[in-house]
Amino acid sequence: MSESITSPALAGILLTNAIVLTMDNSHNIYEPGAVAILDDHILAVGLEAELKARYSAPLVIDCAGKVLMPGLVNAHTHVPMTLLRNLADDLRLDVWLLGYMMPVEREFVSPDFVRLGTQIACTELIRAGVTCFADMYYFEEHVARATAEAGLRAVCSQTVLKFPAPDAQSYDESLAAAREFIQKWKGHPLIEPSVAPHAPYTCTEEILRATAALAVEYDVPLHTHIAETYGEVEASRAEYGMPVVPYAKKQNIFDAKVLAAHCVHIDEGEIKTLLHNKAGVAHNPSSNLKLASGFAPVKRMVELGLNVGIGTDGPASNNDLDMFEETRLAAFLAKSVSNDPTALPAKTALTMATRLGANAIHQGHLTGSLEPGKRADLILLNIAAVHNIPRFRRDPDAIYAQIVYAGKSTDVTDVMVDGKWLMRDQQLLTLQTDLLYEQANEYARRIDTFLIQREKSILSKLIAIGGAMEEESFEVQTKVRITDQAPILEALHSPQIEILRHRHYHEYDTYFLFYDLQQGILRYREDESIGDDDKISGMRYRLTLIGQARERQFPSDVLLSRSRFIAPASHSLRFYREYFKPAREAEVEKDRLRWRILFQGTEFFINLDRVIKPDLGYFLEIKSRTWSRRDAEHKADIAINLMRFLGTADKETVTQDYLSLAEASKLLEAG
Ligand SMILES: [Zn+2]
Repeated sequence: MSESITSPALAGILLTNAIVLTMDNSHNIYEPGAVAILDDHILAVGLEAELKARYSAPLVIDCAGKVLMPGLVNAHTHVPMTLLRNLADDLRLDVWLLGYMMPVEREFVSPDFVRLGTQIACTELIRAGVTCFADMYYFEEHVARATAEAGLRAVCSQTVLKFPAPDAQSYDESLAAAREFIQKWKGHPLIEPSVAPHAPYTCTEEILRATAALAVEYDVPLHTHIAETYGEVEASRAEYGMPVVPYAKKQNIFDAKVLAAHCVHIDEGEIKTLLHNKAGVAHNPSSNLKLASGFAPVKRMVELGLNVGIGTDGPASNNDLDMFEETRLAAFLAKSVSNDPTALPAKTALTMATRLGANAIHQGHLTGSLEPGKRADLILLNIAAVHNIPRFRRDPDAIYAQIVYAGKSTDVTDVMVDGKWLMRDQQLLTLQTDLLYEQANEYARRIDTFLIQREKSILSKLIAIGGAMEEESFEVQTKVRITDQAPILEALHSPQIEILRHRHYHEYDTYFLFYDLQQGILRYREDESIGDDDKISGMRYRLTLIGQARERQFPSDVLLSRSRFIAPASHSLRFYREYFKPAREAEVEKDRLRWRILFQGTEFFINLDRVIKPDLGYFLEIKSRTWSRRDAEHKADIAINLMRFLGTADKETVTQDYLSLAEASKLLEAG
């Protein structure tokens, strides 16, 4: 208890005898310093002697030898993904996200999953001295609830995107959920609800505009991913004629209080757009390094006065929530990339991890520095551990270096948020952790089983990435080798055949072969459609899983087959290669004249192919696809008539595809 001459004002808690780093605008340091706290907020910060004279408190805590500073702000994360940590690593962003994270999330993410993942994250965050974070996930209401129960402060952003999500079938649904969530949580002492259009490339213009309008309507932050990869910027330029920031601006995104995660590939003009629109940026060094996304122009952004915070990103792409590590990396990375060891000094890096981060997530009025009126969100650090001694006092900034370059998250001994202790002497006070780990391992076991099952089947892998509808079709097909196209062309123009449509294509096929031939062959096809002027008039990319099931063979080698799963190929050949990991590949290139015709009341496709690579010569193919077996059998009979009509019924037939399973097996053996 303190005593003084004039009657002192009453505080709730007086923290004394500390090295107080305020992280305020002037970077005031007080030693021995003190902080007076009343209820949820800071009354005063200053030298111990002064504060002891001004305040009395029922609780005075001696913080001898410890740094007292604002809690760290994790400016961008996806906390429930603690449950997906170490699930799939060393993959490219698209393969990781679309091939693993999203399919697993669609299957497993539920309110229970989100709650457990958040509790584990809060445990980790509190232990590592984080008092506030900006989250983006599904079922965000449950993130908010678990976070508030743990006593942490957070901006909780409900995700909206163009794909079906674990918590919504459509974007309308998730937008409505976001509105409801914001209405319910707006004004909560710890939680700032927010809306998160996931990224410009995973949203439509309509979603971007609607989420911006929602954020403006309720004056809440809008949280999104911006320009994380170079590919994203290239695609934006190709599609919209501008990079990501101007495109987002065009969709009114910056009418809202934006928190833009990553901003790796942005230029000077885009930095200025962010600045003029008071957007915050979350820099995620570990995630950018691990996913090889590139190097954000952090030094420049900070120089120009942008509020740049530091975030861990989701624990599945980091793989932890350690802001000490992240802050150190941010400083190292900025130096290394700019070839300048004076870039992003420890003091600046720690400011990014505190005050600038709070500003970036639009919570700077509440937290991020130790200043009267702000909420009491603070931590105590033991800087006398062996990895962090001795202490020099000549340079006042040395204390920042001591924390950023030598400090560890395990140095955090005490954490207070909103005036309440969440950890004292490294003992958690708001979370029961013993059951959490067991439950997390139970999820891991179930997810493992799910993925092991899925990885066994090419078809289920295809379905997992939304690559195919789970439906079967029947195909009637015959293919014969010909030497001369002229008789066929002549026959096609006879009155017995009605031509419905004619097209000219150049086709490039890449076949993925797998050791287990039962799985079939996966064909990636690029179709260049050639106009009358011999110029390319369009491109089409398709993925076909060619099954081996040969249902029935008719005279003249007309085949009835099934299990061909066809889907538009919306990703690159590189994506499919890395995702499916074929044992071998084979390429076929051909020039194809294609007709859709009517013969004896039945529709067929006729293809006249010249196979260029490998040089196999000319082929005639007759095809028809149908959903019913009975219809397919009927078509097979007519196909035999059509072959007779075209004069090819007696010709040698070849396999149903240019690469047959027999050939594939030979190739596999050879390889
Ligand atoms: Zn992220």
